[in-house]
Amino acid sequence: MEIAIAGAGAMGSRFGYMLQKAGNQVTFIDEWKEHIDKINRDGLLVETESSKEYCQIPAVFPTEAAGKFDLIILFTKAMQLEDMLQKINHLLYKDTAILCLANGLGNLEIIEKYSGDSAIYIGVTLWSSELEAAGHIRATGSGSIELQPINETSKERTLELLATLNLAGLNADLSEDVLLSIWKKAAFNSVLNTYCAILDCNVGEFGASPQAMILTEKVVAEFVQVAEKVGVPLTADSVLETVRNVFSPEESGHHYPSMHQDLAKGRKTEVDYLNGAVAKIGAKAGVNTPVNSLLTAIIHAQEDIKGL
Ligand code: NAD
Repeated sequence: MEIAIAGAGAMGSRFGYMLQKAGNQVTFIDEWKEHIDKINRDGLLVETESSKEYCQIPAVFPTEAAGKFDLIILFTKAMQLEDMLQKINHLLYKDTAILCLANGLGNLEIIEKYSGDSAIYIGVTLWSSELEAAGHIRATGSGSIELQPINETSKERTLELLATLNLAGLNADLSEDVLLSIWKKAAFNSVLNTYCAILDCNVGEFGASPQAMILTEKVVAEFVQVAEKVGVPLTADSVLETVRNVFSPEESGHHYPSMHQDLAKGRKTEVDYLNGAVAKIGAKAGVNTPVNSLLTAIIHAQEDIKGL
């Protein structure tokens, strides 16, 4: 398949690397000049648990990207998605499928503004990746993908997409209720990302506090109320169990969630697509979300203090 990765940061680079290794023609689309130059000059350096290898994948700026891709995988941060879609609008043909696995609520609505007749797939992924430096990622651990077509598309096309992802070892499966999975992951991230960023701690340190589950329940309760209003059958227990499960060091205890890393590295966060999104959807649906609204404001204040 001809595949473009729109947003070749930590995750996009990992997916591009795996898809290229499986025999696909991959192109990276990104706006980070140093990263693009490094990849084009030396190749993308991919570090895994057991290897270090340079992988040759062409990288271009959005305006330079040309041709007809079978698949465009959107992998910007949620708040960068609209800008990316505007810049790659010339690549969105009827035959081009779009796949978005970015975190957060509201990505689909943004994609639908630009997708025209393209088939849209959205989902969630448990893969992870770290951007060490320009042209260099650390791709450890394994993961999976849950995805679902959103508009009308043939069954064959969906099976072909799943087969392409699975041949690359990406463990993709068809979801029966992708919106539920997206809401569940957004609630989970709105707990761990946001509290760890505010409290300046890792997942295990947060989980060790007797306050952890009390704080968690407050965020999740509002998610469940808002989800119900928009017809998503999210249950508090399902999110609480997932949160509890990652507190141990064997799971993600030592991990600093991405919002913590973003603030530490002086980057804006995805809070408007997590706690902020549920507050916004709640306001429209007539549900008060004082906890998520306050947490959103605190993260924005942290961004302001850092001049982001
Ligand atoms: P990232 O910041 O590493 O990568 C985003 C890339 O998009 C960057 O290289 C950036 O230069 C590029 N970009 C942004 N706006 C652009 C624009 N307008 N034009 C061109 N290029 C643009 O982010 P990431 O960590 O790969 O995360 C991507 C998404 O995946 C997020 O929603 C994140 O929450 C989610 N996610 C990340 C992980 C992880 O382990 N990193 C795991 C699961 C899900």
